[in-house]
Amino acid sequence: MAEAISVTVARGDGIGPEIMDATLKILSAAQVNLNYEFIDIGEKVYQEGYSSGIKPESWESLRRTKVFLKSPITTPQGGGVKSLNVTIRKTLGLYANIRPCQAYDPYVATKHPHIDIVIIRENEEDLYGGIEHRQTNEVYQCLKLITRPGSERIIRYAFEYTRRRGWKKLSCFTKDNIMKLTDGLFHSVFAEISQEYPEIETEHMIVDIGMARLADKPEQFQVIVLENLYGDILSDIAAEISGSVGLAGSANVGDHGAMFEAIHGSAPDIAGKDLANPSGLLLAAVKMLAHIGQVDSATHIHNAWLKTIEDGIHTGDIYTPERSKKRVGTQAFAQAVIERLGEVPTVLRPATYLYGAMPEIRYNRKSPEEKQLVGVDVFVDWPGDNPSEIADMLRAACPAAYSLEMITNRGVKVWPEGFPETFCTDHWRCRFLPKESGIFRHIDILELLNALNSSRIDFIKTENLYEFDGVPGFSLGQGQ
Ligand code: NAD
Repeated sequence: MAEAISVTVARGDGIGPEIMDATLKILSAAQVNLNYEFIDIGEKVYQEGYSSGIKPESWESLRRTKVFLKSPITTPQGGGVKSLNVTIRKTLGLYANIRPCQAYDPYVATKHPHIDIVIIRENEEDLYGGIEHRQTNEVYQCLKLITRPGSERIIRYAFEYTRRRGWKKLSCFTKDNIMKLTDGLFHSVFAEISQEYPEIETEHMIVDIGMARLADKPEQFQVIVLENLYGDILSDIAAEISGSVGLAGSANVGDHGAMFEAIHGSAPDIAGKDLANPSGLLLAAVKMLAHIGQVDSATHIHNAWLKTIEDGIHTGDIYTPERSKKRVGTQAFAQAVIERLGEVPTVLRPATYLYGAMPEIRYNRKSPEEKQLVGVDVFVDWPGDNPSEIADMLRAACPAAYSLEMITNRGVKVWPEGFPETFCTDHWRCRFLPKESGIFRHIDILELLNALNSSRIDFIKTENLYEFDGVPGFSLGQGQ
């Protein structure tokens, strides 16, 4: 027999310990070849003063095993604590979040009996970098970072996932009609990589219409790849409409590790009462077994679980007199799954896991494009409301070599030729270009800022304007 594979296990808070016990009992009955390393996470660890809810020594286990089966934790109220999930994802570089959402009609109530989709969400970038600033009295900013390596990795992962599952269609939702550079990059990388997978049908939708379609006709989708925030929202919508929030497991995968968990929280309201449904954690454990290559055990356990659902043995959260045969508690549900090991469902589609972990997705850095500084946007804090007034101030302060090209407020061009109706905050983006094109250097920005400073103009930040191979790497202002 092959050597047992070590995995790190955390029993979590609230219902965590009881659903983990139920899950491990099923894994043990299925004779999986695992060796568990238990670590403490969550409420108690936060209370001991560890701001991320995990002790330094637990990282040693995670680094050693590279596989983490995690029960939900209770997030402490109040400030000063960091999200454990975000910390683990970022520290281990778990760039892909995979969330299958499936209906189990007619056994679990759902509005969409045919929903069977997988959402692949980028996990590290976008607005989740937590780079936020308050810049003026009225304006706060959060930086949205979309990178080529991050986009390529998640999109390639999604194509590989679709190919391996033998599915035919991969969709991508962005908002590139508005965010032409950031979401535009994600969309163009999707289009680029699709050329390498000609057998997979691809489609791109603007995220708002895509989400609306998914809520209405989810059966038209199979795999969907999205940036972090859109993926976060869509995966909850999909889980909710499938009727299986309590049944869904999720995987967070990177090149140096993977974390598997249920999508629900620690449900303190039912903790310790033997009421919790262990299915989400069990299905996460099944994905973990597939990930480490124990595909037979994964298939075996998943099918026993499907048969249990099909036989109407249900915990209280999914029990209905019309669809269920027997209402059971957490441990009795686990026992029912154990009794069905070796069976396959007859109505629900049986599960088959054929492959282990996905191949490592490598990023090959492209040769750099020629980058040329062509101007600067200076952001100014000014409490007035007449754009012509700030334009006059800036033009009076601006050295002769540069010209004020445009002023926008919340992205709307207000000078020159703005509309008097446009509401203005105290946060002004003021674009300066050199009078002679093609010669602009960092020293010019310093000279400009120095002049603005002498005129007591309160600049709060600058953004350099670059062209890459002659293509502007900045938005041109509304209406241009
Ligand atoms: P929750 O998912 O814990 O509970 C929402 C509702 O669903 C509750 O009524 C609960 O009883 C029920 N429920 C959840 N899981 C269930 C299960 N397996 N079986 C039966 N019923 C179930 O969400 P919440 O109440 O918003 O959060 C509770 C705590 O969990 C909070 O501290 C929150 O921060 C934390 N949380 C942790 C994670 C995580 O660790 N990954 C995720 C979400 C929420």
